[in-house]
Amino acid sequence: MGYRPFVVHVATLMRLPGVRQRQVRIGHLDDLVATCSEVPSGAEILVDVDMEAVHGGILVQGVIKAPWVAECRRCLEPINGNLRVDVHELFAEGDWREVEEGRIYLLSGEHLDLEPMVRDAVMLELPLAPVCNDACKGLCPSCGTNLNVSSCSCEPVVDSRFEVLRMLYS
Ligand SMILES: [Zn+2]
Ligand SMILES: [Zn+2]
Repeated sequence: MGYRPFVVHVATLMRLPGVRQRQVRIGHLDDLVATCSEVPSGAEILVDVDMEAVHGGILVQGVIKAPWVAECRRCLEPINGNLRVDVHELFAEGDWREVEEGRIYLLSGEHLDLEPMVRDAVMLELPLAPVCNDACKGLCPSCGTNLNVSSCSCEPVVDSRFEVLRMLYS
């Protein structure tokens, strides 16, 4: 078995319905890459959850935290941040159909691997259109000058969609 930082041995817990057990794990995962942002490989991902045996499986609830890096969508400067996701999921004995429908995570035997839940939660939370600052002016579309840093003498580009509206309403 390779590096699996989020595997929890649950044999004891499964014999104690109603008892909550806290698990705090720190590990890293590769390939947490969305279109516009990613968790750097090697970065620490924190999983802090309560686990409880319920009828048919184990309920997992708590929080996941991870750092992310990206390029500003407007000016392309490197930016970073931290994400935090609340999770509340059932790990259950079941078949793959339920897993594919996203209703459960699979519990097999005495080891519960939190990794699929961590991956799903982080991927959903990675920013889709990160900007360095809401007021970022971006790059000049003609000459590429970073307009946060300096200005250029290019003619402003007129968005033709707005030009049509202007003619309609003037
Ligand atoms: Zn920017
Ligand atoms: Zn320019």
